Amino acid sequence: MICIFDAHCDTLMTAREQGRTIWQESQEGHGDFPRMQAGRVACQILALCSSREKDSSPLNQVLIGIADLHRALEEHPGAFLIREAEDWQRLRQGKLGVLLALEGCDALEGRPEPLEVLFALGVRCLSLTWNLRNELADGVGDETGGGGLTRMGRQVVKKAIHLGMVLDVSHLSTRGFWDAMEMNEGVWVATHSNCRALMDHPRNLTDDQIKAIAARDGVVGINFYPPFLTTAPQATIYDVIRHILHVVELVGPEHVGLGSDFDGIDACPLGLEDVTKMPQLVESLGEAGLSQREISLILWENWLRVFQRVV
Ligand SMILES: [Zn+2]
Repeated sequence: MICIFDAHCDTLMTAREQGRTIWQESQEGHGDFPRMQAGRVACQILALCSSREKDSSPLNQVLIGIADLHRALEEHPGAFLIREAEDWQRLRQGKLGVLLALEGCDALEGRPEPLEVLFALGVRCLSLTWNLRNELADGVGDETGGGGLTRMGRQVVKKAIHLGMVLDVSHLSTRGFWDAMEMNEGVWVATHSNCRALMDHPRNLTDDQIKAIAARDGVVGINFYPPFLTTAPQATIYDVIRHILHVVELVGPEHVGLGSDFDGIDACPLGLEDVTKMPQLVESLGEAGLSQREISLILWENWLRVFQRVV
């Protein structure tokens, strides 16, 4: 049976905002541990997002997210945190493996040192920015400034590589993206970004960017957010399939996966209303003409390959 590896959701942080917990099944939001398991998700990357607009500091927000995860892992023994190589062996034994990702480095507050602590707490994937500029780089929302990676940004990238983290270009400005590629070290992916050739949105990647990620054996995770998928008033699961097929045609089935963005998006495609609907993708990709082998790469193996290289 093909399992699902989803490279991005905001469920850990959103559950707290919605007054629910990630370990108890709820009708609210797009997912929780029981619903992930019902959706055959065997590995889920949980994003630690933070905002400078909130009451507490970005670092505090991230630490509270990690505390929530610790509580959740105690309450739900079916889930475990992947921190080191031997943890991979526990996957697919009916359990849910989770990885922690820091989305945007605002929590570092302009210093590289906190990254070591966040690594010790289990963070294994790092994106430098959210949409706005920070000390490390420009985000896509500040694209007009034309800024790429700063000196601090490069320093943090080197530290992340040294510690053993996968680097994520989603939300990074175009200039920042190419600065990152030119550094020519580290494992780079886009955990939740789509194809600019199909939908002209600044959060989506051009064909050249997708080729650059593939050339470094990275993976692009297709995002379910309707405005990144289509201009049509109602996105459907077939739009997700279209974006997957575009990457397959461009660079092969080894470089595309899922990055749902569940609980970080305010609308979902028809047919993918929450994480329990994930298995529908197995059927739809089959109907689109992909083999079981290719479907397994896209939904499971590609992300596993990339993360096992680093963790
Ligand atoms: Zn995001």
